[in-house]
Amino acid sequence: MDGRVALVTGGGSGMGRATVLAFARSGAHVVVADVDIEAGRGAAAEAGGCFVEADVSRPEDAERMVTTAVERFGRLDCAVNNAALTPDRAGIVDADLAEWHRLLAINLTGVLLCLKYELAQLRRQGGGGAIVNVGSVRSLRAKAGSPAYTAAKHGVLGLTRTAALEHASEGIRVNAVCPGAIDTPMAREARAARGESEAAMAARLSPLGRLGTAEEIAEANVWLCSPACELITGQAIVADGGYLAQ
Ligand code: NAD
Repeated sequence: MDGRVALVTGGGSGMGRATVLAFARSGAHVVVADVDIEAGRGAAAEAGGCFVEADVSRPEDAERMVTTAVERFGRLDCAVNNAALTPDRAGIVDADLAEWHRLLAINLTGVLLCLKYELAQLRRQGGGGAIVNVGSVRSLRAKAGSPAYTAAKHGVLGLTRTAALEHASEGIRVNAVCPGAIDTPMAREARAARGESEAAMAARLSPLGRLGTAEEIAEANVWLCSPACELITGQAIVADGGYLAQ
């Protein structure tokens, strides 16, 4: 990935941060976008990249992430649209409409906005490049009690396939990485809310018997953006310890 320019949203924490560091190790220049200024700046500094304060649900912020990459490094080659809020916890009957709109705005419309400006830039450069949207096993299998998160993550896969088809003739690849239970601040928060131990969560969600690490998902994100995958587009790559094989 030497000299390529990569943008990572939600790059201040968890899998986003691990992806920022993995891109940097692979030789890429990295732009870190996050609403959390301190975390985002920290990850960018560690990666020798630059930070943009951006809320992916705001069109002007999504556009600014891309213009920052171009102003700072001259172009954009890859993007990992990873920023999202943690799953909602009430069923449909009890769903809070304000929470529904907020979660959909960030977890689904946020991905659309990132794609919109990233794809436009890749097209301006004459095509080529790769984008990864971070979905979830909830892109492919529902769970009672998280209607907004499940609908948003199903939508992320729909957007991924649509973008892949719309831009295949320009040599732009778009894929989704769909993690299972990964040990990040988001997963720890969800676990704490349920009062569940790490071992119990791993036994429930992973035939391999352990949670995944942020670094394992980061490797998949970078790999999908690399020249090793030039034939892969429009796919959901599942990294879940075997959960969906059941
Ligand atoms: P995390 O909470 O550790 O990190 C998310 C980052 O996104 C944070 O730095 C946060 O500040 C940032 N963010 C939140 N809202 C934002 C916004 N509006 N604009 C810009 N940045 C914003 O989460 P994580 O566990 O690393 O999750 C990363 C991705 O993986 C998410 O898309 C999540 O849905 C998905 N995922 C997580 C798991 C898991 O088990 N942790 C499983 C499947 C999918």
